[in-house]
Amino acid sequence: MEWKEYFIGQLMTQREVTIIWDKFLSQSSWKLETIFNHLHAMPAIQIKQKHILCSRCNCQDQQQYYKFYFNKKKIIYCCSCLQMGRICSNDLLYYLPNNQPLTIRNQKSFLTWQGKLSPQQNKASQEVAEQLDDSSHPHLIHAVTGAGKTEMLFPIIDEILRKDGKIALVSPRVDVCIELFPRIKAAFNSVKVLLLHGKSETKYEPCEILIATTHQLLRFFQAFDLVIVDEVDAFPYVDNESLHFAVNRAVKKKGKLIFLTATPDKKIVEAVKKGLIHQTILPARFHGFPLVEPIFLWLGDWKTNLVNQQKNSKLLLSLKHFIALEGRKLIFIANIKLAILLSEWLEKLFKGLRLTYVYSTDPLRHQKVEKMRKGHYDILISTSILERGVTFENCHVFILGAEDPLFSKSALVQMIGRVGRKAAYPSGKVVFGHYGITKEMKRAAIEIKGMNQLASKRGLLNANA
Ligand SMILES: [Zn+2]
Repeated sequence: MEWKEYFIGQLMTQREVTIIWDKFLSQSSWKLETIFNHLHAMPAIQIKQKHILCSRCNCQDQQQYYKFYFNKKKIIYCCSCLQMGRICSNDLLYYLPNNQPLTIRNQKSFLTWQGKLSPQQNKASQEVAEQLDDSSHPHLIHAVTGAGKTEMLFPIIDEILRKDGKIALVSPRVDVCIELFPRIKAAFNSVKVLLLHGKSETKYEPCEILIATTHQLLRFFQAFDLVIVDEVDAFPYVDNESLHFAVNRAVKKKGKLIFLTATPDKKIVEAVKKGLIHQTILPARFHGFPLVEPIFLWLGDWKTNLVNQQKNSKLLLSLKHFIALEGRKLIFIANIKLAILLSEWLEKLFKGLRLTYVYSTDPLRHQKVEKMRKGHYDILISTSILERGVTFENCHVFILGAEDPLFSKSALVQMIGRVGRKAAYPSGKVVFGHYGITKEMKRAAIEIKGMNQLASKRGLLNANA
């Protein structure tokens, strides 16, 4: 491999360049000094009229810049991207943009996936592929939960691979990256796929497909012909200017940016309306059954009933009906303390019921989810952390306190989306248990209905669904 391959598209500190040279080139005829001469460089911290700007993360918040004195000289460093290693005002950042144009060198497909796309996936995939040359408009794929958006990407990724291009598939959520990695690897088993995130030991090395958290893109500079951001509306990408900056910078000048989500946020919806972002909608699930519409169930003052463990309450009656359903049950509740109270109460009332609760900082979170998946529990009580990314076969959802301000329209749509994902169990029950209907609850129900109507209009729903 040529020396450039090891550096192309990366934004590196002096130390990082040295590490790459040490690992891959120290045995070659390329001297470290010569490499530095070939790389572009820029000041790591730029100071213009007292305004300080980090070249790596573009942090605008002046409070994030700290100073110290070394040999009586003032040094400024950036705290915003400190987790990626400290960069100071006396440092340089090195980079080598990827100027390689796309060329069709390989007519052969790299796709080793044996499955077949649904007509909807196929159509959407073609629509997006036709837009790949338009680098001035990002493309949003608005696909309902369970539409099969990952498979839909395969022909698009293949198209770039056949042109000898590089792809980054990123997500704000590390669990999404971890889940995507084996699937992408299996779908393209002859190309190099790399997984990078803050919790892994893996370091970047040249690859055709990079799967990473959005944070990792802070280390790249005009690197990829195609950058796909999955779950674009999820924390921490949404509203994080540095991450938006990093994603945009990681795309080559003539490259393409694709956003993927089931629940686009307001900013993206606005940009679509203004024509700044183009859009493809997938309103149907891959199995052709409609999304499950929520049942609104007024529970009265359910919190007091729960705290007092009131047996003759509407809350308990509704939960009894819900628990009696056949299959796995997910109960979402915004507050951890109430989740624990509910768990204790149900355990006391229903002897032998296999249940547990989970919350964002629960150290056993992954194990519990895995156990639920394997059928070791009947019921999982969760704060909204499980709203995305988890799939349980044959499952029903009860959102207790759907009126909670923490439950946005997007969160509710994602929670609804946990039901009926598998072809073997394409339906189920979703209950909005509440003490007053909020705007967000209404908007979530309207959105689900709207997508079902669109799917039906396009003839994408099974006749027997
Ligand atoms: Zn920074």
